[in-house]
Amino acid sequence: MNEYTGGCLCGNIRYKLTGEPIFPHSCSCHMCQRWSGAPIVGWVDFSRASLIFDGPGGYPTLNRTSKTTQRGFCPICGSGICALDDGSEEISITIGTLDNPNLIVPQSQSFPESAPSWFDCTRQGG
Ligand SMILES: [Zn+2]
Ligand SMILES: [Zn+2]
Repeated sequence: MNEYTGGCLCGNIRYKLTGEPIFPHSCSCHMCQRWSGAPIVGWVDFSRASLIFDGPGGYPTLNRTSKTTQRGFCPICGSGICALDDGSEEISITIGTLDNPNLIVPQSQSFPESAPSWFDCTRQGG
């Protein structure tokens, strides 16, 4: 079975994922840009049941960023870790926080029209 590990910049939040990655994609919507400070964010979904937060900080701090979505971050270093849609069995994890971000490749790009004009989207699956 596939296993993926990752965590935040400071090591307070650590996670372990098993199973199949679902819908790996990148997103350059304005919310993702403001949330991350980056022009684009890589996301991948996993079953919530397959995710364990096993770092010293336990679960990321959750912040409601839209009517139906919460985003999780490390309360110490601020790394953006995850997003949870209300009622979903899945959790979205930022590909950039994987210990090896090469393992999961975005297959599509959401909101390419919102990316900064200087950002080259041509390799993002869009
Ligand atoms: Zn941290
Ligand atoms: Zn987005």
